[in-house]
Amino acid sequence: MRCRCGKTAVFQSKTYRIALCEDCYPKFYVNLVKRSINRHSILKKSERVLVCVSGGKDSTSMTYVLKELGYELSLLFIDLGIKDYSAKAKKVFDEISDTFDLSSNLIRAGDFGLSLDDIRMKKVCSACGTIKRYLMNKFARENGFDVLATGHTCDDIIIFFFKNVLSGNVEYITKLRPRLEGFNGLVTKVKPIFERSEQENLVLVNTLGLPFLEDRCPYKPNDTWRDLLQVLETEKPSFKQNFVRAIIRLADRIDVGCWDVRHCKICGEISNAEVCSFCRLIEKYSQTKKM
Ligand code: SF4
Ligand code: ZN
Repeated sequence: MRCRCGKTAVFQSKTYRIALCEDCYPKFYVNLVKRSINRHSILKKSERVLVCVSGGKDSTSMTYVLKELGYELSLLFIDLGIKDYSAKAKKVFDEISDTFDLSSNLIRAGDFGLSLDDIRMKKVCSACGTIKRYLMNKFARENGFDVLATGHTCDDIIIFFFKNVLSGNVEYITKLRPRLEGFNGLVTKVKPIFERSEQENLVLVNTLGLPFLEDRCPYKPNDTWRDLLQVLETEKPSFKQNFVRAIIRLADRIDVGCWDVRHCKICGEISNAEVCSFCRLIEKYSQTKKM
């Protein structure tokens, strides 16, 4: 398969009816993200962006494209205290920050007495999400960032959608929007690559030889949802693109009314209960330690 410029193609897409070489694909990718950002008013050029980097292909792709588009960026890595994995991810994070010549920031969950390896919960990912959301938001707000950017892909959005609809959390769909305006101590959150897929990101990082962590987190659940999604995409090309757009249209139509804004009585951060889930995690973890 040949690119339109004549070189050997590294990327083929039935959605866009296109084949592209290693030189043309990154430009194509950047243009697609630029279009998403403009169409959904995801970012403003004047905003200071804190980019949350896990070390995986998606956050590396997001860093690349936002840098190419000229946004003012700084990187953030959260060390979750996962044996071997966190150290490897941190090493890749340092490589990413060197590659793109961007300032880097590090938060250790251990400094708050938390380590994922010590949290004996069935759903470790849920605790992990709580820790990351809390620390990212607090850091961004305290350090004057306008926006927090995460590398959620269309695969992530569709899987979140299915899981939440199946558990009856219909109002959660509003959180899947590519830009969530901040309020009451919550910093604005954006998902600039929400229309891009994991496969597209993998081609991007491999084509450009960008650093990314290939190891899987030891707590990562099996990939049944992702596999199902891939089957759908293969059987029905453009499924992911069309579906993620439909989700965002739906999210824009849902009116969740006014949030009942409360603040944690321990740390003062915004919370949906008397004590926020981060502080509850610390309390529980401390009890575990005392036993
Ligand atoms: Fe956290 Fe789960 Fe992701 Fe591992 S797989 S980094 S525990 S959310
Ligand atoms: Zn709290």
